[in-house]
Amino acid sequence: MNHKTGFVTVIGRPNVGKSTLVNALLGEKIAITSPRPQTTRSNMRAILSTDDYQIIFIDTPGIYSPKNKLGELMTEAAKKSLDGVDAVIYMCDATDRTFLSADRKITELIREAGKPAIALINKIDAVPKEALLERIATLAGEYDFKDIIPVSALKEDGLDIVVDSIVKLLPEGEELYDRDYLTDTSVRDIAADIIREKILLFTKDEVPHGTGVEIIRFIESEDGGPVHIDATIYCEKNSHKSIILGKDGAMLGKIGSRAREDIQKITGCPVNLKLFVKVRENWRNNNGFLHDQGFGDKD
Ligand code: GDP
Ligand code: MG
Repeated sequence: MNHKTGFVTVIGRPNVGKSTLVNALLGEKIAITSPRPQTTRSNMRAILSTDDYQIIFIDTPGIYSPKNKLGELMTEAAKKSLDGVDAVIYMCDATDRTFLSADRKITELIREAGKPAIALINKIDAVPKEALLERIATLAGEYDFKDIIPVSALKEDGLDIVVDSIVKLLPEGEELYDRDYLTDTSVRDIAADIIREKILLFTKDEVPHGTGVEIIRFIESEDGGPVHIDATIYCEKNSHKSIILGKDGAMLGKIGSRAREDIQKITGCPVNLKLFVKVRENWRNNNGFLHDQGFGDKD
């Protein structure tokens, strides 16, 4: 077999397990996973290289019905990811009862783009086997998928089959990236995403998804010494700020220490992390601010 190289987008509704899949395939915490939806904000590339192939995965934020500007931009990012890719992985959640209606919009997008696609039914560890047959049949009627594969991204079940199936769809080509290059997303961006993940994780439903994180200082030492990171957490209301700070700053301390542990896994050296919290009303509908967060164009 000649070497194959290609771009593959991973598309699906929020929370179906797209980032978990990409993480599992690469064996690193690159895309950010969360028990709550919409943590991955913009498209992220993750690169899987072997002697035989190089797959450049594009992990998209989920497609959902936009409620505000941020939602629109996330949906746009997912749609745009279909341009220029060689193949599509469409993922749905086996445990989700609203399977069809909400997913149809996505299969329509894939049909419009006319790309070769495989469908993954994820989280099979959490449903009885009998439930899968009906789903496979439904999916087969939606689009001419090259394969429909039940998987568990979390338990890493079925992933070899996924890779084989995808590689078949890729064109022959040389490597585009160095072997040890895993992502085109900077540690800086990943750090911001990790901090955001911890806020969502620890504040539960008290603070909405409208929290932005801006890295204001990122200084690496040359000799493997500590990385210094200062970040500002933006929230929409004073009440959210109080929750994020917690009693005597306890919540912020917890967010900071857990984020620091995860960032250290990626940098491979000690991290000094300083967090600040600021209120910035209505930032989700502010184009300039969204642009600074890596979305869309400034106008
Ligand atoms: P994304 O929004 O599509 O990127 O979804 P994530 O990868 O962030 O995953 C959302 C949630 O689903 C997380 O809590 C994951 O741990 C969970 N999850 C992902 N894959 C599986 C799976 O195969 N089985 C189970 N039971 N949970 C999963
Ligand atoms: Mg994700």
